[in-house]
Amino acid sequence: MTADIIDGKAFAAEIRNKVAGHVTRMQADHDLVPGLAVVLVGEDPASQVYVRNKGKQTVEVGMASFEHRLSEDTSQADLLALLDRLNADPEIHGILVQLPLPSHIDSDLVINRIDPSKDVDGFHISNVGLLATGQKAMVPCTPLGCLMMLRDRHGSLSGMNAVVVGRSNIVGKPMAQLLLRDSCTVTIAHSRTRDIAEVCRRADILVAAVGRPEMVTGDWVKPGATVIDVGINRIPAPERGADKYRLVGDVHFESAVAAAGAITPVPGGVGPMTIACLLANTLTACCRANGLPEPEGLTA
Ligand code: NDP
Repeated sequence: MTADIIDGKAFAAEIRNKVAGHVTRMQADHDLVPGLAVVLVGEDPASQVYVRNKGKQTVEVGMASFEHRLSEDTSQADLLALLDRLNADPEIHGILVQLPLPSHIDSDLVINRIDPSKDVDGFHISNVGLLATGQKAMVPCTPLGCLMMLRDRHGSLSGMNAVVVGRSNIVGKPMAQLLLRDSCTVTIAHSRTRDIAEVCRRADILVAAVGRPEMVTGDWVKPGATVIDVGINRIPAPERGADKYRLVGDVHFESAVAAAGAITPVPGGVGPMTIACLLANTLTACCRANGLPEPEGLTA
């Protein structure tokens, strides 16, 4: 058996098109332009790339992009004051603070300073609580993207056995909450889980969000299962030349593809969905702020 490859790049492009269509209508009918503010503190090269891509895609779907690049030594007080200004600005519907923050800044304090209704990353404690209690929340972008791909593949997820490997606040836990909300039977595995391969083999839906290159191998995958690989790991690729790297997921693709029914590749699977869902969340936040109906198929 060879699994269907879930094309996250094409799916993300579809979402961006839908978002762009909504944005055009919103501007025509209501004279409204959704605005996303991204705040970057410091010079982390990976963060710079993410922020650049976010800004570019925000503009491409017709939204307003506001970038705030602050120096590494920005004080926590100055960052909080900026967030207060963004919270009060009616042209800004979504605020994202790029993580990680420099070590002298308390990330929890900063995230919880964002107005929950503008918290398009879904990390504010209010949104975490709303999601956990099944209320209307802003949902973290990466798990939202995974959920959209799973719904697209299966329609209803009700009654399916789902195993999420990883229990981080940004991926594992919200992913598990979303699957539970869609009536899966959910198991969360982590570094202390006993006989993790056996746990994974029970999964109709297996989500790997571990940060360990190719840890989940084909013999962990139930035949026909849907495998969502969230991991993004850079590993040396000497076959491409000295100092060259390649990206791999947390799943060993070559062995898993032989067992799974469907699988996301790395790159080109979950990765592109994350920014697409950030744009979807910004649109949703703008609709909610203005009492407009929420875009169908773009929320949890
Ligand atoms: P974290 O490091 O925050 O969490 C990793 C989780 O994996 C922890 O819960 C940890 O368990 C668990 N874990 C670690 N080692 C093992 C092991 N040997 N067996 C079982 N579980 C283990 O990572 P994130 O959740 O932030 O990210 C996970 C991966 O997803 C990374 O590769 C990251 O780059 C990628 N990512 C991709 C995104 C995208 O857009 N596609 C967005 C965000 C992340 P414990 O809690 O017990 O320590």
